[in-house]
Amino acid sequence: MNTNTNSLRAGIARREITTQDKDTNVIDPLYAKVLLLDDGKKQVAIIAMDVLAIGGIGDLSDDFLDALRGRIEKELHIPASHVLVNASHTHPPGKILCDEEEVIKSTFDAVNEALQNLIPVKIGSGAGYEDRISINRTLTLKSGKHWTIRHANPCPPDEEVVGVGPLDPEIGIIRVDRLDGTPLALVYNFAIHLLFPNPQSSVSAMIPGVASGIIEEHLGNGALAFFLQGAAGDIIDVGFKDFEKPREIKIYGERLGLSTLAAWNKMETHDADLQVISETIRLPRRTDIPQRIEELLQEQKVLLQSLQSTSLNFRSFLPMYLKQQLNPDFPADYSYAYLQAEKIGNDTPREMDKVTQGLTSKYLRNIRAMERLALIQDDISTLRKHQAINDESGEETIAAEVMGVRIGECVLITAPIEILTEVSLNIKNSSPYKSTFMVAFTNGYMHYGPPASYYDKGGYEVTECLLAPEWEEVYTKTAKAIIEKL
Ligand SMILES: [Zn+2]
Repeated sequence: MNTNTNSLRAGIARREITTQDKDTNVIDPLYAKVLLLDDGKKQVAIIAMDVLAIGGIGDLSDDFLDALRGRIEKELHIPASHVLVNASHTHPPGKILCDEEEVIKSTFDAVNEALQNLIPVKIGSGAGYEDRISINRTLTLKSGKHWTIRHANPCPPDEEVVGVGPLDPEIGIIRVDRLDGTPLALVYNFAIHLLFPNPQSSVSAMIPGVASGIIEEHLGNGALAFFLQGAAGDIIDVGFKDFEKPREIKIYGERLGLSTLAAWNKMETHDADLQVISETIRLPRRTDIPQRIEELLQEQKVLLQSLQSTSLNFRSFLPMYLKQQLNPDFPADYSYAYLQAEKIGNDTPREMDKVTQGLTSKYLRNIRAMERLALIQDDISTLRKHQAINDESGEETIAAEVMGVRIGECVLITAPIEILTEVSLNIKNSSPYKSTFMVAFTNGYMHYGPPASYYDKGGYEVTECLLAPEWEEVYTKTAKAIIEKL
């Protein structure tokens, strides 16, 4: 480990990048925030952006990253490979940012300002804990298959669900203090999808917007809070699927902010050194899409054939079904009517119950087939979309940048992918650094990165995916090797 201590300097700055369109409803501003670190020999820029993704989807084009880094390299002499750009993955649909040229200019200005204001700092790092606001959206079914909790799909029947996917409740924290002990910056890394703040899908920085506000207010001294999105590929907020309550973004943000501060408060700061490694690897594109589609078409065929004609329609089904649920033993009438019928040897009520139960069961089977059919249709079109992306590339692999930054005892490892929890935990748990933080959604965007073992189990992330299962091994190996070298 480097012993060249007592030389780290840091600078901070931020710029607003929210759309200026007056017809767009904006709850809170979106920012590009810059933390610049300088050890006297090299500089590293950590840029946290309230955007959906760095290219690929959302407002920023595939050219954005190169354009921004190119300008930073040319005018400020910080190499592209030392510039980490993380997307918070905030989701409102439509245009949420100002024009791309504006975003580049504002972000560049923030880097420049941070560079002009470098001051000596001490660094601390460690972890906070927050398990009240997020959930893994991958459900395991009795069949061993996966089903993803999404707005676009129904949930599976309750009795089919046997498990919920893994959760990483760690908040990775870096404390950056001036030499007089006052705070300059707080970096926090947590995994959570930032999906729509309200039914109107207004523009918002969402949960970290709230959390950063609380943190910055508490830190004072002009300090900035930097949210770096983690392995949120399969992580959503706990209230996501609850249509009957207003969204609790503010409560989630407050919990995240306060849990971060609680851990930050106990952190000691030291002199720290700085290392950075960036490697571009080739990840295999998937070739199994035609086969997956064929399997889904087969399932679709079986389900279609399973649909039975039924004498009920929804209007007659619902009251009949409710009566059966209200009292399964006496669905059609009061219990005394059944007792009386028994007494006089009349078995008609019981026989009628058998008939109506048969009718509702049949209708329910049709409904479940319909729900699954809708999901299959959705899956097929998503798979076709990714087949088209891969076809258009004309390549069997895709370039992915993996960056490792070590700041004292703390390591950030990046991926241009919506990494899933299991992949991230594997890397974090094997790292020699206790403070190892997965910074996903960084320096590019290539959709979801599920564990190889998920591909045969179905679920949303293996569908919204252009990588072959072998990607996990290639990426994990690289990430671990970079961490070793740092
Ligand atoms: Zn996502």
